[in-house]
Amino acid sequence: MQCGFTPSAKKIWESYTEDVRAWLLNNVWCSHCREISAMDAVFGKIESGLLMLRGRCTRCGGNVVRVTGTPKARFLFYKFLVNRKIKDLLEAHTPKFP
Ligand SMILES: [Zn+2]
Repeated sequence: MQCGFTPSAKKIWESYTEDVRAWLLNNVWCSHCREISAMDAVFGKIESGLLMLRGRCTRCGGNVVRVTGTPKARFLFYKFLVNRKIKDLLEAHTPKFP
């Protein structure tokens, strides 16, 4: 996958953990597919203080944009963290059967 970032965007991007980056790239609303898709050929830059990720929808090849740092993005991210926490807890407490 080809990615490009401006230096300031790169700094923010690299502050995210691997799973957060994967979540950002794999939960992109595509207005062409009208559903959640993934993006590649990502280019990241800072616009109005927000990290904007522009890329290509892996399903239809159309242009997609992912903005981080908005209240809505924070809310979705919070939900992601809560779901991950629940998943971790479930996995930790579910007996494993051979
Ligand atoms: Zn698409």
